[in-house]
Amino acid sequence: MKPCACGSGKLFSNCCSPFLSGKALPKTVKQLMRSRYAAFALTGYGQYLLDTWHPDSAPAVTADDLGSVDSNWLGLDILDSSQQGDSGTVEFCAHFLDENGKPKTHRENSRFVRIKGRWYYLDALSLDYGGT
Ligand SMILES: [Zn+2]
Repeated sequence: MKPCACGSGKLFSNCCSPFLSGKALPKTVKQLMRSRYAAFALTGYGQYLLDTWHPDSAPAVTADDLGSVDSNWLGLDILDSSQQGDSGTVEFCAHFLDENGKPKTHRENSRFVRIKGRWYYLDALSLDYGGT
């Protein structure tokens, strides 16, 4: 029994695992945000990242590439979120160690859209690389 990588405080099996394994679809933008963060943090979930990326903005990389990105994610703080109909935003800070082992923060306001009942990550409204 391990805590979820997204930092929700819940067990992985009760949090992002059902989404990452394809057993359930995230119902809210926050659930999608958390599960995508967990996918990045755990590595090996490249296909999930591609499957939840809007086709218009998805990077031209393979699931293997995405799933093997070496990351040192330390935690996720969700600052704000809103959802209206089939679109939503989540503002968050993701903490990580850079290549020199220095703690950094990636702050982003992500946009999400729902198509045929599935939420997709569309793009970021603003980017702010802090922690310098
Ligand atoms: Zn989680």
